Amino acid sequence: MPSLADLERLKEILLIYELPRQDLALFGVLCPLCGKTDRIRQVELPHQVKEYHDIPRDVAEFYTYIYSACINNEQVMAVCKFCNTPLSLDQKGMKAHWLVDPSMIREESNED
Ligand SMILES: [Zn+2]
Repeated sequence: MPSLADLERLKEILLIYELPRQDLALFGVLCPLCGKTDRIRQVELPHQVKEYHDIPRDVAEFYTYIYSACINNEQVMAVCKFCNTPLSLDQKGMKAHWLVDPSMIREESNED
């Protein structure tokens, strides 16, 4: 299971490298954090990130690791472009979920 630090690094990567670069607007998908329904964007699959030549190899490898750790066969990764939260997205139901159980994130945050 990825740590809170892993999730923070993923957030940074999405911001720094401006992912997703494909503009797939998903209307009607609710962000579980901020409640917006028009800001969820599907992010690139790991093999697509590897094809971006400006993204360092270790960053692409980290992205592949966290993608495979958090996303199952029936999901894709997404991000809310309003609150910058990485999410998992059901391909069938078009429903977004936390990548990691939020109770775990809160416990870790309280230690800061
Ligand atoms: Zn959000």
